Amino acid sequence: MIRYRLRCAEGHAFDHWFDNAAACDAELASAAVPCPECGSTAVAKAIMAPALGKAAAPATPCGRPPCACGCPALDG
Ligand SMILES: [Zn+2]
Repeated sequence: MIRYRLRCAEGHAFDHWFDNAAACDAELASAAVPCPECGSTAVAKAIMAPALGKAAAPATPCGRPPCACGCPALDG
């Protein structure tokens, strides 16, 4: 299971669990995840904002091309 922070077209952010990254993309593509606040299915993965104002933690990217762990893609 993997949790993603999602954001709908109205700007509501919420978390949702998926079986895996591919399931997340598939469910979002098929509008299977409605926003709990407004019901909109126009939702997309929200980029996890870096923790500003705190000491920067060392980045540990997983390195896999379809990086599903939320780390910055460094090999672009
Ligand atoms: Zn919404």
